[in-house]
Amino acid sequence: MNFKTVQKQAIIVDPRRKTQPKSTPVEVREDPLTGRTSRICHFGLLKWAKPDLEKLLAGTEAACPFCPDQVLAATPLFPKDITPEGRFRRDDTVLFPNLAPYDGLGAVATLGSRHYIPMAEIEPERIGRGFSLAFDFFRRVRDLNHPESVYHLISWNYMPPSGSSLIHPHLQVFATSTAPNELRQELMAAKAYLERHGSNYWDDLVQAEKTQGQRYLGKTGRISWLSGFAPFGVAGDVIGVAADCRTTLDLSEPDLADLAFGLTRAMAAYDQMGLYSFNACVFPGAEPDRFARLHVVFSPRIYYNPDLHTPDTTALRTLYGESICAAFPEEIAGMLRPHFTSQAGP
Ligand SMILES: [Zn+2]
Repeated sequence: MNFKTVQKQAIIVDPRRKTQPKSTPVEVREDPLTGRTSRICHFGLLKWAKPDLEKLLAGTEAACPFCPDQVLAATPLFPKDITPEGRFRRDDTVLFPNLAPYDGLGAVATLGSRHYIPMAEIEPERIGRGFSLAFDFFRRVRDLNHPESVYHLISWNYMPPSGSSLIHPHLQVFATSTAPNELRQELMAAKAYLERHGSNYWDDLVQAEKTQGQRYLGKTGRISWLSGFAPFGVAGDVIGVAADCRTTLDLSEPDLADLAFGLTRAMAAYDQMGLYSFNACVFPGAEPDRFARLHVVFSPRIYYNPDLHTPDTTALRTLYGESICAAFPEEIAGMLRPHFTSQAGP
């Protein structure tokens, strides 16, 4: 496994000390699978100040379409062939079609009736219930042989810096025959990797990270947790790789509990750095994809300038597709690891 890095130096002159040029390091890292690059730069302390959350939340509950008094009146229903009840439900979690779908089969699942849950207090059981509900939907469209039932995707935008327009925790759930860019590129590269090496890239990655140790975080059941080598996020990424699973529906109920528990460990760790928002996505293969390995990527989000709500996705990220991470992933791993190793499993 080739963890390729290129070290560079930017020389700048401090206007106050003109005689002493200053050297600033920049490291360009290449994702060992896809070759996607990520820049480790803009080094800073991994410490952020949380905003006045009470002020942010004020008034949002009264207008929330996902709160229990609104959700059944404000959200749309599926046609009867998908479910005669119109929506999927488990306890207080509800899954309904997305009003603004990304694809032919788009849904949203609320994570229960609580309007706001601080990131570090989201219970693994709640996440597990949300995923199980998404699985009810995926199984239904699979059993219907729906043409979009190929990749079963779950993504999560939590709190406004992540792109979420609502406070109420919810998942984006969609089934599609069109894999999104990053997933498609990963799958193509994993296919080429299997043909070249005769092994599954993700299995080799977990083995290499476990041996090397610096970015390995721990294991919950069949899920191995890593700090991403070439992260998407400014504060790094946490990757959970599910052994023996290719598709989303390969995850068993115990796997879901283990996955949810690992995610809450990442949330607890980043909460201590002052972060309160994240994106998360599952990366599955399609049923016949022997080269695929189901994994989840958790990536915290920040505002570059909280007063102006300046997102951390600038031209570099949006148009060049280039990521910036403000610390070495090995350093970030050192801050995350205690949360993965010191807690009892689910
Ligand atoms: Zn709400």
